[in-house]
Amino acid sequence: MFDTTVKYAVLGLARSGIAAAQKIRELGGTAFLSDSQPREKISGAEELARDFDCEFGGHSEKLFAFDTWIVSPGIPLDLPIIAQAREKGVELISEIEFAYRIKARDSRVIAVTGSNGKSTTVSLIHHILKNMGFNSILAGNIGAAFSSWPIEKLGLDFIVLEISSFQLDLIDSFLPDVGVLLNITPDHLNRYASFADYTASKFRLFANQSHENTAVICLDSPPIVQNQHLIKARLLRYSLTQTPPDCEAWLNRDVIQIGLRHKLPVADLKIRGPHNHANTMAALLAVDSLTHDLDFAIEAARSFEPLTHRLEFVALINGIFFYNDSKATNTDSVKSALSSFDKPIRVIMGGSDKGEDFAVLTPLLRENARKVYVTGDTALKMCSAWQDQVELACIEDFEDCVRAAFADSVPGDIVVLSPACASFDRFRNYEHRGETFKEIVYRIRSEYEKE
Ligand code: ADP
Repeated sequence: MFDTTVKYAVLGLARSGIAAAQKIRELGGTAFLSDSQPREKISGAEELARDFDCEFGGHSEKLFAFDTWIVSPGIPLDLPIIAQAREKGVELISEIEFAYRIKARDSRVIAVTGSNGKSTTVSLIHHILKNMGFNSILAGNIGAAFSSWPIEKLGLDFIVLEISSFQLDLIDSFLPDVGVLLNITPDHLNRYASFADYTASKFRLFANQSHENTAVICLDSPPIVQNQHLIKARLLRYSLTQTPPDCEAWLNRDVIQIGLRHKLPVADLKIRGPHNHANTMAALLAVDSLTHDLDFAIEAARSFEPLTHRLEFVALINGIFFYNDSKATNTDSVKSALSSFDKPIRVIMGGSDKGEDFAVLTPLLRENARKVYVTGDTALKMCSAWQDQVELACIEDFEDCVRAAFADSVPGDIVVLSPACASFDRFRNYEHRGETFKEIVYRIRSEYEKE
């Protein structure tokens, strides 16, 4: 229920902050908007300034006149203004918490978090629900923000949410009917004080659940197993390595099994790699817990296509396969890429550093990489991690790096962009990096075809 008497401030005017502000206005409330960036850097700043009281270029003392601040996930919580707000008793919430408070009671929430696989899994859950004929929306970190949907109205069967740890840091009453935790591996270590803090943030997904709700968890992720006793909800567990009675979904040779009766051969899926088999188990368990129609859900899962920038097939040039995995922005997602092909691959890696130790990849690279091509800000750090361990080429220019991988390849080889890093050293975001990679591959293809 929306309370028009609350005086809101919105900190950070990106997608979710703007959506929250607009929803507040639509529901008859008022909001003060504040962003540290100058006005010219905010898209749509003129319209926002017309509709709301705003400040740009910094967060001022004016903010303390407001009861509840909706804080964008991009704002680090160690900023002095946030510490002051806490001291003064200001309520700090994420946009996910805000939207949850106003959503209609009857729509059920499936929320997915984890270090990797969130977008794929929420998209798969949404795809299955839609195919089953439900009125489902996909929101949160993917597509449109949670608040931007007509969530206060009746009639939405399911809200499928992709949730990051930053959004979980500022929840209070948020309670998903089904919470899905895919995995916890080192990521965002530049923002959390420790890995334990990052793990605790992920577990907040289950904090408000009781035995009436469901938690879907992966048993292949040690930090999840170690902390599962914190979960009060009914547990549904899945694993690529364990079998019943320890889990409800498992792999029986090349067949996903959900309980003893329901089977899905992995060859029937359009998404590749063991990590995607795990994502499929998570999605099926989540959907089954609320719909109790696994036969239909399994049927729908078969037609789900891979998302762009996640092991996306790009082209076949002279028998050489190119895949774009630009969304692989940490080492764990690169492990998935390295485990997804039946022969060693040529991997293009590097970007801006998120504080990870690249040596964790050495054993898998030695086993499953034919050669590694490093580029970007982390090139030197990567070279020193893998020097004398794997075959390496260090090439400064991104296009030259892709071309070098092609030049080294023979028919049957596989070239994968799977950077293990963020993209901000040279690109606007991972999509820009992936699109640039695809353009280079298409250029190589047209040059090759002309020859
Ligand atoms: P997220 O939204 O959590 O970033 P995505 O589905 O966009 O997850 O995938 C990001 C990267 O992680 C891609 O490179 C993908 O191949 C890889 N990935 C997807 N699912 C998993 C998983 N369950 N475990 C490890 N890596 C995964």
